[in-house]
Amino acid sequence: MKEQKCSQCGHWNKNAILCEVCENPLTADGLNIAYQKKIIKEDKEKKESKFFIFLEKMKSSNNILVKGTYYVLFSIWSVYMFFVSIIVFIAAATPG
Ligand SMILES: [Zn+2]
Repeated sequence: MKEQKCSQCGHWNKNAILCEVCENPLTADGLNIAYQKKIIKEDKEKKESKFFIFLEKMKSSNNILVKGTYYVLFSIWSVYMFFVSIIVFIAAATPG
């Protein structure tokens, strides 16, 4: 049995990677897990950013003008990405 005292809350943990009370990492593995959790959390927050909420609102709007604006912007973006991919393809295909 290996007991470790948490540096944050002072709780004694038995064979734990993370503190049972405050989830403070106690070992190197614990640090990795805590880091992964942080990345997953940040990723979730990114997906639910204000910009995407705004886009979803536009998409599901009852106002035909707002909905139209969304589709116009979306098609402009699609055409833009189409040309960008062609330019990248040409740049990659031609030597030099
Ligand atoms: Zn703790």
